[in-house]
Amino acid sequence: MIIIMKAQATDKDIEAVLTRLESGGWRTHVSKGEERTIIGIIGDERKLDQGAMSRMDGVDRVVPVLRPFKLASRDFQPEDSRISVNGHVFGGNKVIVMAGPCSVESLEQMRETATAVREAGAHLLRGGAFKPRTSPYSFQGMGEAGLKILAQVREETGLHIVTEVMSPDQVGLVSKYADVLQIGTRNMQNYALLNAVGQTNMPVLLKRGMMSTIEELLMSAEYIMSNGNHKVILCERGIRTFEKYTRNTLDINAVPVLKELTHLPVVVDPSHATGKWTLVKAASKAAVAAGADGLIIEVHPNPAEASSDGEQSLKPQRFAELMVEVRRVAEAVGRTV
Ligand code: PEP
Ligand code: MN
Repeated sequence: MIIIMKAQATDKDIEAVLTRLESGGWRTHVSKGEERTIIGIIGDERKLDQGAMSRMDGVDRVVPVLRPFKLASRDFQPEDSRISVNGHVFGGNKVIVMAGPCSVESLEQMRETATAVREAGAHLLRGGAFKPRTSPYSFQGMGEAGLKILAQVREETGLHIVTEVMSPDQVGLVSKYADVLQIGTRNMQNYALLNAVGQTNMPVLLKRGMMSTIEELLMSAEYIMSNGNHKVILCERGIRTFEKYTRNTLDINAVPVLKELTHLPVVVDPSHATGKWTLVKAASKAAVAAGADGLIIEVHPNPAEASSDGEQSLKPQRFAELMVEVRRVAEAVGRTV
């Protein structure tokens, strides 16, 4: 249920509505828009006396929210959420670009990549220290040593860090080094992990499960938000379809659909969505044209030698070329990079 206040409702009117709801045991979420305030109600709606609420001073109307996600929904908050990381704002006019290797492999590798992607205009550095690999025999990541490398390279380059956390017991450790916690496709429905990151104050990059619907993605965001952490950035990273030519199928529809359903920022990962470096530039431009708030792109100084995802990693020079073209598309749709 949401309560839409009249444009001329006073702070006192809003306060009275909140007091009444909270004393009845409901949780509330206030969204102060430019025109009017919307109060979201979380809890058992059957007990709510809708008629009485709609007669309170300053209340325009009481409207049911039919969608299963509440805090994440645009009904609760019509304005776009803005999430700032080192001054780069997700959900604003600027398209935020995160770039770096799939896995952290060495200080030299991270230094070289970070310097190159920063030069090309990337805003944040990505790199996995804990890697969720399909095979237990594949490289599993450097662990804390990798996190230390990321932190050192942040010191040297000023680029803030996006890195994956795989389990609730890793959240404390990864939060010590990271600026954005990434939840990978395989963990989108790891509810213990969603609860754990929900209890931090860290921005979370939540990747869509490779076999999950858009609604399931939003329900996972709701887990994080219902724990108090509203800093959720959604990521479309391709889903599994019958098409085998590409690693996944970039669900470009997900971008405008999410923009309709939620106020949360939406970014696209063209690297995992395609699985081939030759396709990454086209997918990046499509994502920006479709309204994505950001991109997360794999870049490696020597993709042939990469410990993971070399086939989809761009060489720094190619990433720089991509940035030039992405910038043009962004300008064409009224955005900056
Ligand atoms: C990654 O970002 O390297 C990764 C493992 O992504 P995903 O979880 O989308 O497969
Ligand atoms: Mn990867």
